[in-house]
Formats: sequence, C-alpha cells, structure tokens
Amino acid sequence: MDLEERKTKAKEIFTDFLKSKGGRVTPERMAVVEEIAGFKSKFTIDDLKQGMSARNFQIAHGTLYNTIHELLNAKMVRKIQIGKVVYYQLCDGKTCNFHLVCNRCGKIIEFQHAELEALLESYKPKRFNMLEFNVSVGGFCSTCTAVLRKLEKKNNKKTIK
Ligand SMILES: [Zn+2]
Repeated sequence: MDLEERKTKAKEIFTDFLKSKGGRVTPERMAVVEEIAGFKSKFTIDDLKQGMSARNFQIAHGTLYNTIHELLNAKMVRKIQIGKVVYYQLCDGKTCNFHLVCNRCGKIIEFQHAELEALLESYKPKRFNMLEFNVSVGGFCSTCTAVLRKLEKKNNKKTIK
C-alpha cells in the first residue's frame, strides 16, 4: 500500500466509524487522520502539530486531542508510553511494539521478534481480555556504549596514575 492509499483508507475507516456513532466528519478531523497516516512509525502530539503547521494547517489543541481520542476509540491508533513520553501509532493490521530504549540518550529502536510475538500471543491471562502488549527493553545504544567506554577508560587511567 503506498502513502496515498494508506491515507485514503484511513480516512474511509474513520469516516465510517464516526458516522456509525453519529459523530461529525469535519475537514479538521480528516486532516489529522491524513497527517497520522503519513507517519511511518510512532509519533508524539508535538510531531503531529509540527506536521500540520508545516502544511499550514492550523488546528485547535482541543480538536487535535479530541480526534486522537476518537481514533483510539476506533482502534485505529494505539497509545504507547515509553518512559515519560506518550507516543501514538497508526495500527495497520497487527503490529507489535517491541522497543529497545537507550537509558542515556532516549533513542528508541524498534525490532521484530516472531518467536517472542508468538509466545506473548499464546499467553492467556486469567480473567483478562488481552488486546495488545508493549515490550520495551532498556539499555544503551551503540553510540552511548562507545561514549561510556571512553569515559570508563579515562577514569581508569586517572586511577592508575
Ligand atoms: Zn544512546
């Protein structure tokens, strides 16, 4: 599916959802969905605002949050919290959220893991209807690992002297 198809599809699904519950289909809401469909990965509200203003589309804060809320209800978007930051992501089919999070610079690397995904899906918690899962693994990215190693070497030299 190319980007235009993805945007059209998202708008169609959202329109159907809003109509089914008597919600209003407004140009603002459609513009938000279009912007969201343009993100390849997860995004923050700020990313969304920046994207909209880059297209010279002024949107009220309330409308933005309200639209995100409706998209969450429509299960078109999922919310992912990593540390203190809240991200959103368009759900295209079944995407799993596996993330490696750098404790030093905050960089997030997504990864796929078929076995882990299968294992989590086979997990049936008692008296709980599981809808999704987030896996985030903390550690240090390659850049930070290199920086930390250098610092460690420096400190070691100092102590030897
Ligand atoms: Zn890092």
